[in-house]
Amino acid sequence: MSLGSNLGNRRFYLEEAIRLLDEAFGIHYKALSSMIETEPWGFESTDKFLNAVVMYELDFPDIFSPERAGEAILDICKEIEHALGRNSGPMYDKDGRRIYSSRTIDIDILFLGNERIETERLSVPHRLMRCRDFVMTPLREIASESIISTFKDIFN
Ligand code: AMP
Repeated sequence: MSLGSNLGNRRFYLEEAIRLLDEAFGIHYKALSSMIETEPWGFESTDKFLNAVVMYELDFPDIFSPERAGEAILDICKEIEHALGRNSGPMYDKDGRRIYSSRTIDIDILFLGNERIETERLSVPHRLMRCRDFVMTPLREIASESIISTFKDIFN
């Protein structure tokens, strides 16, 4: 998962998001990248971001499809964003383009094992990750060999 914050005590929001993810999944994360400071992406602001990538090793019951597991994780991410004071969902301009803005915390799902998921609510691997250095730089620190070889297109 990719984490980002550019409002208030950014390190606190990242650490608190990770603590809440640990609690929700009932396990400690497997790997955590360093926290890096980055420029806002997709909008103008003087509030720089702090970004990190965290990895969990999750087991879902066999009866869960990857789509169902992914959406259950997405619900957890949204709940944590809400609990940490992110108060608006995604906004779009009149042409349907995404409008980005400052936020206490943003949590995106990057991968779910080697799965590829496309539902109305969720795309995995995350569609924009390969063109976002603020995701790829911390991700390269902790990505497993299996993820790198399965998704060569993303890591090249
Ligand atoms: P956000 O960037 O956190 O504001 O997320 C905007 C929306 O993107 C969410 O409400 C999700 O429904 C959707 N979305 C699609 N794919 C993903 C993904 N891989 N991780 C997180 N959100 C996603």
